[in-house]
Amino acid sequence: MNTVDYLRISLIDRCNFRCQYCMPEGAELDYILRQELLSNEELLTLLQEVFIPVGFRKFRLTGGEPLLRPGVVDLVRAIAFLPETQDLAMTTNAFLLADMAQDLYDAGLRRINISLDSLVAETFDKIIGNRGRSRWQQTWEGIQAAYHVGFDPLKLNVVVIPGVNDQEVLDLAALTLNRHWHVRFIEFMPIGNSQLFGERAWVPSEELRQRIRDVFGLIESRVRGNGPADVFQIPGALGTLGFISQMSECFCDRCNRMRLSADGWLRPCLLNETGQIDLKTALRQGVHTADLREQVSQLLMIKPEINFKQRDSGTTGTYTRTMSQIGG
Ligand code: SAM
Ligand code: SF4
Repeated sequence: MNTVDYLRISLIDRCNFRCQYCMPEGAELDYILRQELLSNEELLTLLQEVFIPVGFRKFRLTGGEPLLRPGVVDLVRAIAFLPETQDLAMTTNAFLLADMAQDLYDAGLRRINISLDSLVAETFDKIIGNRGRSRWQQTWEGIQAAYHVGFDPLKLNVVVIPGVNDQEVLDLAALTLNRHWHVRFIEFMPIGNSQLFGERAWVPSEELRQRIRDVFGLIESRVRGNGPADVFQIPGALGTLGFISQMSECFCDRCNRMRLSADGWLRPCLLNETGQIDLKTALRQGVHTADLREQVSQLLMIKPEINFKQRDSGTTGTYTRTMSQIGG
């Protein structure tokens, strides 16, 4: 059985972008009230007394936009210095990163994934729902800052949407030619904006690989991640190309993760709401952490059944929450 030791922690459900595929403008999102967010203390209690004792060792801070979370640097420091933490990473849109990259690094963060769906300012602004002054340059400066501070590996996540940014796949892939960056193409999932998904659908990773192969050549990389990406490389390139193909392939049987939402719901499967536990309410009602540990252990035992149900039914599930609410 796969070891589940990786927890993706959403720090906040709010965001300074409104990406079309995630939080489209006009979508009614009920933001979590501040008092309903897990506090830093509650989160650390859950990590130390519940998640670490049952075997979790790898943590990723995400959201919403994690850099909007007040006190995020202190939280990074506290988690990075827990003796059991083997890996701490963050997923961010990088808009606020230029000013925060050094502090995050000094606090102990070493791995960062940045969402960048386009190298063209106009397309980028359209995707992130920006109508004011372009936000591309500040985002790019955030990426450069992370690179210069020393984040390694630096990963760029690209959600590929037909007719929106798929024509840029070669340019995005070319970023890896002379940089130690990892560009990862993610198949668009029907979460967050079913209308856009209905109109545009998704591009299979193999089709993207073929386009890249035709122009640059493509080989399987010797660098293997421990996540869902299939890793390739342009021959001679410094960086790598990852393909996350949750629509065209099912990797549920390799799943090593659970998700904790910003308001404290533990979710065993991204695409299925079965089995969720409201840890925050339990904690606030004074339920002993030993009992919560027991509940999480039980959930770990039934997780494979939850995952496999998903495989049997294809990539469909219960999507009452967006990626920004679940913690993407
Ligand atoms: N705000 C941060 C960011 O954008 O990197 C972190 C949270 S965001 C929800 C995490 C990841 O989920 C991003 O890489 C984003 O592109 C991805 N995502 C959101 N909605 C998606 C969808 N419908 N299909 C595929 N990926 C999606
Ligand atoms: Fe915000 Fe990230 Fe969602 Fe874009 S993908 S709206 S940056 S949470």
